[in-house]
Amino acid sequence: MLRCYECDETYADGSRQRCRCGEPLWFAVGAAAIDADADGLERYREFLPVEPRIELGTGVGDTPLYDADGLGAYAGCDLYVKDEGRNPTGSFKDRGSVVGVADALARRAGAVGTVSHGNMAMSMAATAASAGVDCLVFVPADIPPERLGHISQFGPRLVTVAGDYRRLYEASLSLARDRDVAFVNSDAPARVAGQKTTGMDAVWKGALDLRRAGVIDALPRLYFVQSAACDPIASAFAAGADRVETQAAGETVAYSIANGDPPSGNRALAAARETGGAVLSVDDDEIRDAAARLATAAGVSAEASAATSLAGVRRLTDGGEIDRDERVVVVVTGTGFKESPLGPAPDPERVAIDDLGPYLDGALG
Ligand SMILES: *Cc1c(COP(=O)(O)O)cnc(C)c1O
Ligand SMILES: [Zn+2]
Repeated sequence: MLRCYECDETYADGSRQRCRCGEPLWFAVGAAAIDADADGLERYREFLPVEPRIELGTGVGDTPLYDADGLGAYAGCDLYVKDEGRNPTGSFKDRGSVVGVADALARRAGAVGTVSHGNMAMSMAATAASAGVDCLVFVPADIPPERLGHISQFGPRLVTVAGDYRRLYEASLSLARDRDVAFVNSDAPARVAGQKTTGMDAVWKGALDLRRAGVIDALPRLYFVQSAACDPIASAFAAGADRVETQAAGETVAYSIANGDPPSGNRALAAARETGGAVLSVDDDEIRDAAARLATAAGVSAEASAATSLAGVRRLTDGGEIDRDERVVVVVTGTGFKESPLGPAPDPERVAIDDLGPYLDGALG
């Protein structure tokens, strides 16, 4: 059964995408327990609307959460890193794709589809390929060409579409209603069910389900960090509004999160408010700096969008909103290996073999 977080309306039709009130829906979860002996998403199968098909999901969700001591001083708190870049296509999107595609197949959809300009397109195309089902990917016409290659390697039907991104999202849903394609867009309920497993400690729905199941007593405070070049949710939070207003998306290194009209914006706002967290934004210099620190002080490659979380934590500890002794998990949502957020690689030092000894004497003191 699907439920609206906002008006509490429920729907028996599990293929519905949005509530009558306009807000996104999610799957209601009853009694459920974690299977600690299982791997990846299987561990949370009682919390999911469909059995995740392990052959699609091999390796999905088995990402490390570790104590990032080397970043403690920079972050200003007791910092843990959840490295979602270690998923098969390099981002947390794989969790949603596995459940979204399994759900579509359970409904006997002839094909799956998505609207995305990056990680979700790659993730859906790869998951569909492993399921042997056709995949239709709509991308905006201005997508950088190297990303087309990242997506097309998995063999989807890849269509570039001119026009407004939000309208494309809406068009995909109405096109899908009359055709045999299940669109697994960013806030498709089955997708969100998969993505909540990112933390079952970091995402609002995951935390709510764990509290209902009695696994945790209290919800963690949730903080959401946007790029200052495109921060409609942070602006609404700062203004005390309960509705997110559309914003023109400016240029930012964090393009994966630069959506001026986020479909789940109001829900994110509610999550921050109801857990006692906040929504904030950081500029590109702070994002680049945080990505560099993740790499050099923790050995974690993060794409710019994924480093905003650490940049945000730094701001929050600077401002006294988070205390030094508080335990904070940053979700690094995607790997930096697809494109370096740090700019071109520096010229390496060049040394001849015979000069290595003296060179090291000087370099290492
Ligand atoms: C998609 C994406 C996000 C944002 O995810 P939402 O589900 O839209 O909140 C953040 N980081 C990366 C790397 C992404 O690919
Ligand atoms: Zn509703």
